[in-house]
Amino acid sequence: MFDKILIANRGEIALRVLRACRELGIQTVAVHSTADADAMHVRLADESVCIGPPPARDSYLNIPAIVSACEITGAEAVHPGYGFLSENAKFAEILTEHGIKFIGPSAENIRTMGDKIEAKRTAKALGIPVVPGSDGGVSNVADGKRIARDIGYPVIIKATAGGGGRGMKVARNDDEIEIALSTAQTEAKAAFGNEEVYIEKYLELPRHIEIQVLGDGQGNAVHLGERDCSLQRRHQKIWEEAHSPALNSAQRDQIGGRVAKAMANLSYEGVGTIEFLYENGEFYFIEMNTRLQVEHPVTEMITGLDLVQEQIRVASGAKLQYAQSDISFAGHAIECRINAENAKTFAPSPGRVDAVHFPGGLGVRVDSALYAGYRIPPYYDSLIGKLIVFGKSRTECMMRLKRAMGEFVIEGVETTIPLFQRLLTEPDIIDGHYDIHWLENYLARDV
Ligand code: ADP
Repeated sequence: MFDKILIANRGEIALRVLRACRELGIQTVAVHSTADADAMHVRLADESVCIGPPPARDSYLNIPAIVSACEITGAEAVHPGYGFLSENAKFAEILTEHGIKFIGPSAENIRTMGDKIEAKRTAKALGIPVVPGSDGGVSNVADGKRIARDIGYPVIIKATAGGGGRGMKVARNDDEIEIALSTAQTEAKAAFGNEEVYIEKYLELPRHIEIQVLGDGQGNAVHLGERDCSLQRRHQKIWEEAHSPALNSAQRDQIGGRVAKAMANLSYEGVGTIEFLYENGEFYFIEMNTRLQVEHPVTEMITGLDLVQEQIRVASGAKLQYAQSDISFAGHAIECRINAENAKTFAPSPGRVDAVHFPGGLGVRVDSALYAGYRIPPYYDSLIGKLIVFGKSRTECMMRLKRAMGEFVIEGVETTIPLFQRLLTEPDIIDGHYDIHWLENYLARDV
C-alpha cells in the first residue's frame, strides 16, 4: 500500500479522496492554485503545494508543476479525481516515466476510450451493444447525407474528442445536416482542438443509464449496478439515482454481466463507467469514462463499497477482493448536484459564502468543501456540493430527500437548491417517469 498520495484536484472531490486516504492511513498532499490557498482540501491535507495561478491550464492542468510537487513531497501515487487530468493519457504516461503511480487505468485504455469512435469500435468488438452510426469520422456533407439516410433521420453529430455535453448537433433532414456538420466541426475544433466529428442515430426518448465497473488490471472485473442520469440540462447531469426506476434486476444482471466481462477482457484497472442510452428495453453504448464520476456516491450507498478506497487498493497492486456473487445491492439512493448558480437562469454565482448549514440525519450524506466565510472563486466549475440520500425504498428516499433539501442553508451566493425543491413536487419526478429531455422541457415551460 502507498504511504503518500498526491491529490491532483480541488473542491469536493479532493476532499472525498482525502477522506478515503485518511481511513486507509495514507498521508495526503494537496495541490492548489493561488485562488484556492484557503480551500478546505488544502486545510485538511497533511501537506500542500501551490502549483500556479488561478487559470486551470496554469495550475490544475500544469503537468510539470504536479510532477515537481510529487518529487518535492515524495508522493508515490497521484489520484486525479474527475475532470482536469483524470482522462489525460499523456499525464498517466509521464507519471509512469517518473516512477509515480497514476491511480486509474493504463494510458492505453484511457486513450482508446477517450476517442469516442475508437471506444465504440472497442465496445462493439467486446459484445456491448452500440448506437447505430458512422464507423469512423465524417468530414464532408455528401458522406454525412449518405450515412444519415442509411441509419435514418434524425441523427446527432458528435465530436470524436468530445466531453461535457459540448459540440453536439441534431439534424432531422438533408437540409439540416449541412449546417449541423459545419457547426459541430467548428465547435469541436474550438473546444477540443480536434474537428473530427461522427454521426449516430438520434434517439428521441431515451433514458441515460450507466454501469459502474471495477477491475484490478489482472483480468478480474465486477459491475456495481447502474445509475440513472437522465435528468440533464444541456447534456449535463444534475440528478442521479440508483437503481434506475426503469430497470428490473434481470435486465441489470444481463447488461452488467456483459460489461463486466468486457472489462475483464480489457484487463481494465480501477473504476470506470460505461454509459448507455436506454430506449424500448434496448441498451445503446455511447461512451466510457475511465475515471471516478461525480455521481459515484449513489453506487456507494447501495453497495456499501468505498469506490475511492477500491481504486487505491487495485492501484497498489491488490487483486479484486470480490467476485460478482459477493456484490449485493440494498435500498435506493439519489444524488442532487448543487451548483453556485441562479436556479432559473443558471448564471454562475461565485463569491463569499456567509453561512452554511448542511442537512443530516439517517441516510443523508453531503459531499462538499464549503465552509462559512469561504470565497467561491470564479475560475472553476460551479459545483459546490452534492446531497446524497439513501432510503430502503425509492419512496422512502424521496421523502428523505425532500426533508433534507429543506434543511440546506447556503447564504451569500445563489444556488440550484430552489430548482430541486420544485422538482421534488413534480409527479413525474416522484414517480420516476422521466427521460433525457424531461428537464429541458420542464424548464422551457417553467420560465
Ligand atoms: P459527453 O461526453 O459530451 O458527455 P455523451 O456522448 O456522453 O457526451 O452524451 C451526453 C448526453 O447527450 C447523453 O446523456 C444524452 O443526453 C445526449 N446524447 C448523446 N448521444 C445521443 C444520441 N445518439 N441520441 C440522443 N441523445 C444523445
